[in-house]
Amino acid sequence: MRAFDFSRAESVSNAAQHGNAETAFVAGGTTLLDLVKLDVMRPAAVVDINALPLKTVERLADGRLRIGALVTNTDLAHHPEVTRDYPLLSQALLAGASTQLRNMATTAGNLMQRTRCPYFRDVGSACNKRQPGSGCDARDGINRMHALLGGSADCIAVHPSDMCVALAAIGATLTLEGPAGEREVAFADFHRLPGDTPHIEHDLAADELITALTLDAPLTLDAPLAPAGSHYLKLRDRASYEFALASAAVQLKLDGERITEARLALGGVATKPWRASEAEAALAGQPAVLASFERAAEIALRDARPLAHNAFKVDLAKQAIVRALRDATRAARQGGTDTQESQA
Ligand code: SF4
Repeated sequence: MRAFDFSRAESVSNAAQHGNAETAFVAGGTTLLDLVKLDVMRPAAVVDINALPLKTVERLADGRLRIGALVTNTDLAHHPEVTRDYPLLSQALLAGASTQLRNMATTAGNLMQRTRCPYFRDVGSACNKRQPGSGCDARDGINRMHALLGGSADCIAVHPSDMCVALAAIGATLTLEGPAGEREVAFADFHRLPGDTPHIEHDLAADELITALTLDAPLTLDAPLAPAGSHYLKLRDRASYEFALASAAVQLKLDGERITEARLALGGVATKPWRASEAEAALAGQPAVLASFERAAEIALRDARPLAHNAFKVDLAKQAIVRALRDATRAARQGGTDTQESQA
């Protein structure tokens, strides 16, 4: 069943059928309303989608978990299927924002979260993402929080979401719906690198809406009793209501002392949720010991391009990776998730 009838909902059709980029959908409003107040976004119309039937979480026959776009971050973090099978996602959600914001923020809104680059949010600064072709004041400005990986000459803004870092490690599929029907996009392909078009942030057309997010089957689906563990580690300037300087999301499976499969994603250091595939490959088959973790961290950061003020994040990200791998290994040996939280 489609989320709503694009051909009959007049207010939506203004946005959807005519591809009006100045019309915005609003759910929790935790990003949109801020940016409207700052004059960064100026939608000609705002369509409230909160009445849509997109607030359920359901287990699919193949073991995957389908999450409605309007499920709040709080409800998702505490959902029993998530805490049991995807504790990494729960940890990442609870590491983000504040309780009040998580109560309002939705799953799709989190996917669409926009950068916290201060120059993007200051209309007096040059910013290619806000105004294409205007320049990038962050390049020669205060770039302590900016990206080491995935940046371009036109933009070095970090993707801000914690939830998306966990999703990069877990694997997921987005369901998008528009006047032409429904389509699916792999989570890994949804967010775009900035390149020379940093204002185009994702694979979502102006006339489309995210209706669901489907998590890949749990890592332990084929072998429920195999030792597997996960950990999300977020290093930041203060304990709460702060964005990551570096974060690492890890899922792994063990066979005795060896890692049989590892998933590793990074946050706070890249322009999109960053899957460290080469580091994952280097971990497979290796003993779950410090030397393996440190080697993976070196591989994950070897393409880092530090700026004037953020070189410290190279070592910080490596430490996040090593500690998250260590804690995920400990969790696997204990039969689940390591619930200790760490911060810089
Ligand atoms: Fe704008 Fe990106 Fe430069 Fe920040 S880093 S000022 S978002 S172009």
